[in-house]
Amino acid sequence: MRVMQLAEAAPVSTHPLRHVDAPDPTPASGELLLRVTACAVCRTDLQICEGDLAMRRRPIVPGHQIIGRVAAVGPDVHDWREGDRAGVAWLSGACGRCARCGRGRENLCEEAEFTGWDRDGGYATLATVRADFALGVPEVFEDVEAAPLLCGGVIGYRALKVSGAAPGQTLGLYGFGASALLTLQVARFWGCRVFVCARSAADRSRALALGAEWAGGYDDAPPEPLDAAVTFAPAGSVVVAALRATARGGTVAINAIHLDEIPAFAYEHLWWERSLRSVANFTRRDAREFLDLAARIPIRPSVDVYGLEEANVALERLKAGQIAGAAVLRIDSPGAR
Ligand SMILES: [Zn+2]
Ligand SMILES: [Zn+2]
Repeated sequence: MRVMQLAEAAPVSTHPLRHVDAPDPTPASGELLLRVTACAVCRTDLQICEGDLAMRRRPIVPGHQIIGRVAAVGPDVHDWREGDRAGVAWLSGACGRCARCGRGRENLCEEAEFTGWDRDGGYATLATVRADFALGVPEVFEDVEAAPLLCGGVIGYRALKVSGAAPGQTLGLYGFGASALLTLQVARFWGCRVFVCARSAADRSRALALGAEWAGGYDDAPPEPLDAAVTFAPAGSVVVAALRATARGGTVAINAIHLDEIPAFAYEHLWWERSLRSVANFTRRDAREFLDLAARIPIRPSVDVYGLEEANVALERLKAGQIAGAAVLRIDSPGAR
């Protein structure tokens, strides 16, 4: 198989991913072998490649928004067949035995493993995945459209749930990349009034075109206090800006796996039962609920397509803020449908 492999973290400008031929993997018991057709590029991939998130295995193949076709089924797999379309997301496994797994919070399992961080991901022509963590993908989406739903979409959906946003309420979205773009569509479908704070004028006009009621910069106050907010920008100062704009009893959900330092702020911004919550990963239930919702809306992801060998370029452009929507690697695997 062909893979884009990371041996050591380094700035993406140095193109740390190397295009190599690797032996084809075989699915172990309970696993599927997928012929990958698309893999979306996430900010987390960038953070792994550059070392903001410490590597957990060397070398590693990044990529955790994978669409593929089942090429082989390992022993003890009964509910998947060769040729089925499957999606693979960030959570690649959890213990299934701990108290958190038992209470439906597998996203917090201490033994949880992650695609493209603990096990090889989708910047490859083939990938093996745990069959019980593979997801069905709604028919309405083509492969390159479906891929970015699997992280940005699902985690944005979880963040919306954590924020407590409800129909008719005001919701602030801070930062407007691939995940926020999908989250806005869900929030509008739910009947929330959405205000977007984003850095670039292009992002702000895209937000307005998708139904935001107002769009401004990070330091601009939205026209009304926010009942709920979700921050997407990996900057601590943005969290404080969101909290300042939040109404009594409102929640700010931080949708970031890595954030720089949150500046000190006056207690009055948290007082009156405002809440500040982080959003960590997501559960398979979140993923299934979101994919079902995405098909019903239907969500329209906007994608910027690259070849597998162009993964370094896609990451560089993501870092530079040059991607409108989501970057997706289209992977031509021999024998794929
Ligand atoms: Zn991701
Ligand atoms: Zn567990």
